[in-house]
Formats: sequence, structure tokens, C-alpha cells
Amino acid sequence: MGKLSANSEDSLMNAPLILERPLRDVDETSLISIAEIFGPTIQGEGALIGMPTLFVRTGGCDYRCAWCDTGYAVLPQFEDQWNLMDASAIFKKIETLSQGHPLWVTLSGGNPALQDFSELIQRGQQKGYQFSMETQASIAKPWFSLLDQLTLSPKPPSTGMRFKQRGLERCLDACASDRTHPVDISLKFVVADKADIIWAKAIADLHPHIPSFIQPCNTDASLEGNKTQQTLADNRDQQRLLWLIECTQALHWHQVRILPQLHRWLWGDQVGV
Ligand code: SF4
Repeated sequence: MGKLSANSEDSLMNAPLILERPLRDVDETSLISIAEIFGPTIQGEGALIGMPTLFVRTGGCDYRCAWCDTGYAVLPQFEDQWNLMDASAIFKKIETLSQGHPLWVTLSGGNPALQDFSELIQRGQQKGYQFSMETQASIAKPWFSLLDQLTLSPKPPSTGMRFKQRGLERCLDACASDRTHPVDISLKFVVADKADIIWAKAIADLHPHIPSFIQPCNTDASLEGNKTQQTLADNRDQQRLLWLIECTQALHWHQVRILPQLHRWLWGDQVGV
């Protein structure tokens, strides 16, 4: 396959409205909804690609992206598989998995911004751990300023979700609230078609000071589960990456880093690696 199909490249899906939530000072609960904690492994995407990390994946998301590949951390029918844990219990698990040797901890989801990670981050940083988070930039929280690295990954039109620039700006503002602790921020765009790439470039152009990364989405994925079970990256992944290089060059978008999903090349669709 040389490129994605013409239909998938050119179609914009109707976008449902996502309700914006207000910026709040504290969460109502100290318990965090956890879908899985695993590692050490490596970060397969974005600014920290290749870095050893543990993953803390939360349960629950305010979005329903068409090609989400972590439906088990999003959909309510999986809720009985999620655990409510406090920061102390999560950090104990982190220390056990890492055998007490500090490394990056990646907060993922779902949307981890729905939770309150302030206590966990501060506990971990005191012991030398660094905290990275990825969120779609729909919800901002004051504790973002505690993070060491934040990947804002707005969801493109092909997901069926509607991007709100104001949400992204609020996330940036939240990071900037503590000037003594700068957060390393990057933008990551996961795209399915040409319209997504044009959309992503427009957002990146508004934020030229923030490093941008782009990668092809897994078009075999869907919220309800993968359409095909793929054990390892195959020729289609390579073709998607070549297609993405071709499209970004055609747009003269030379300030973006084009990356594969490294973990798919190594472990395919396996969960917990
Ligand atoms: S892709 Fe991310 S933002 Fe979209 S539904 Fe899945 S976890 Fe939520």
C-alpha cells in the first residue's frame, strides 16, 4: 500500500461537541483511577522516544476518538477492571517495578488530566523520578506545573473530536504558573489523512516556540478493539511513515519531527509493554 486510501486521506468527519471543563484548584478525591501500571519499558512516541520509562495509565477519558487504541482505558464497560489507588500505593508500585532505581514515569490514559497527580509527582521527584504526561489538551490542571515534561496531543478531525484552542492555551498557562520549575512542553500530532496534517500544521504554526512531533495513526485501531490483530509493525506502517514524510514535505513543513510509533515496531499491538 503506497498511501492511505483517498477516502481516508481527504474526508473530514463530523465533529461532536466536547464539553469544556473549568480549571479547578483541586480534585474532589485523592484516589486515582488506574487502568494499568507497567514497565520498565521505553517510550515509543514523542519527545522522549527511546527513553526508559514506567507507564501509569489512568482509566477514563472525556474523548471518544474513532481510532483510539486504548479503549480498555476509556470505555465505561472496562471500569470494573480499573483500580482506585492513592498516590502512596501507586508510588509503592513504581518503586517495586523500578527496584528503587529512578527513571521517567509516563502518565498516560485515557486522559490523565482527569486525575490529580500532584501528590504522586512530588513524592516521586523527591526520590529522583521524573514525570512526563500526555494529554489531548482538553482539560488543564494547576498541577501540570509540577511535571518535568508534558506532551500536548490535540486530536485531529479524523478522530471525530473537536479541537478547542482555548483548552490548549489553558494547558500552556497551567505549566507557566510556576516560573521556578519550567516544564518541557511539546506538541504531538497523530494523523490519519491529509486534512489532519494541514490542521496539525496550522496549530503548530501558532506555537513556533514549541517543538512539534507528528506520527501516523494506527488505522487498524478502533475504540471497540483493533480491527485486525497485528503482532508486529509491517509494511503498512512503513508505507504510512513514507506517506507522512511526503505530505509534510509537500506542505514545506520542515520544523516538525516525523516519528514512527516505535513500540508498534517492537511489540505490535501487545498491551503492557
Ligand atoms: S485516543 Fe486518547 S483522547 Fe482519544 S479516546 Fe483514546 S485515550 Fe481518549
